Amino acid sequence: MSTLEIRGLHVSVETEAGPKEILRGVDLTVRSGQTHAIMGPNGSGKSTLAYSLAGHPKYTVTSGEVLLDGEDVLAMTVDERARAGLFLAMQYPVEVPGVSVSNFLRTAKTAVDGGAPKLRTWVKDVKEAMDKLAIADDFAERDLNTGFSGGEKKRHEILQLELLNPKFAVLDETDSGLDIDALRVVSDGVNRFSASGDKGVLLITHYTRILRYIKPDFVHVFVAGRVAEEGGPELAEKLEEKGYVDYVGTPA
Ligand code: ADP
Ligand code: MG
Ligand code: MG
Repeated sequence: MSTLEIRGLHVSVETEAGPKEILRGVDLTVRSGQTHAIMGPNGSGKSTLAYSLAGHPKYTVTSGEVLLDGEDVLAMTVDERARAGLFLAMQYPVEVPGVSVSNFLRTAKTAVDGGAPKLRTWVKDVKEAMDKLAIADDFAERDLNTGFSGGEKKRHEILQLELLNPKFAVLDETDSGLDIDALRVVSDGVNRFSASGDKGVLLITHYTRILRYIKPDFVHVFVAGRVAEEGGPELAEKLEEKGYVDYVGTPA
């Protein structure tokens, strides 16, 4: 049983005009076995929350804390966060020409486990995970993220999730570029991940459609850098009907 706790999190981003506060006191607790959805209008700070958890250098935590089983996540390096059991899909968002998918996955696995995986089992594990995601074998030799389609990026994200086997997954499902195919891949992968029963998922999304495939236990509505309302899956249904108009005054 593990707990990821976000308490009173305030985060500023560096802009040319100086620091700008984006997160204004986020409180959220995810326990193993739970799936939480964070939903909210564009610009409400959802991705900023994900980047902050990932330790992105552009985002400065000005107050508050993030604890994983009582351990201070914000004091950890990016690799330490991964080793502690946090999976942050946006951890390596950039295109990395010259690094193959296969090399990247082995490096990430080594960082997370604190030692290189045994080659024979690893090759088998990768093959199995790729088969489950209907990924062709030659994908493993592609340059990391270079020229990946939206769907390929998602497949790669879920492939990492399967192979790295974290305690908590934070997935920022960016609003655009998720076609129905990618939506299925993400949904099936996340559902397989949480099926083991001891995993925590924090799924960040703008649209309700992914919640037709992934059933959250809790829904948090994010507005202007904080959680404005919380509820169960019925809250997502309300958002599906009404959008964010109750929170921001205009249809999102
Ligand atoms: P969401 O993911 O909910 O759409 P974001 O976290 O991407 O929201 O953005 C929240 C607000 O913070 C927006 O007003 C956005 O312009 C601003 N913001 C986020 N990142 C940066 C950045 N790197 N530089 C300047 N402004 C940023
Ligand atoms: Mg956005
Ligand atoms: Mg976003």
